[in-house]
Amino acid sequence: MEKWFFPPQVFMSAGLIVKRQECSLCGDDYEKCDHIAGRPYMGRLCAVVLKEVTPDHVALVEAPANRRCRITAFSVPGGRRNRMTWVVTPSVEKENGGNPMEAIIATSDD
Ligand SMILES: [Zn+2]
Repeated sequence: MEKWFFPPQVFMSAGLIVKRQECSLCGDDYEKCDHIAGRPYMGRLCAVVLKEVTPDHVALVEAPANRRCRITAFSVPGGRRNRMTWVVTPSVEKENGGNPMEAIIATSDD
């Protein structure tokens, strides 16, 4: 539906250096426990909890793991254009060159 009702979206993916992955159910090292991320266990979903994370890079991608990670607005003459509504909000900020944008690069459930 998104493709029919909104302008083409630009998705992002954050590259992270992760030192440790923990199981959300048992708290053990994810590689050592028997739980599988995304599967339910007694009404609770297993997830991988990332620990000791260092951001490395951000990339533009066509098929993101998390579709909420996207460019939300970008600069145009006279303001910022919302990527979903295509509405331009006037901006009085002085840009420092380039093509500034606003984006979501990670969400709390990543
Ligand atoms: Zn586990």
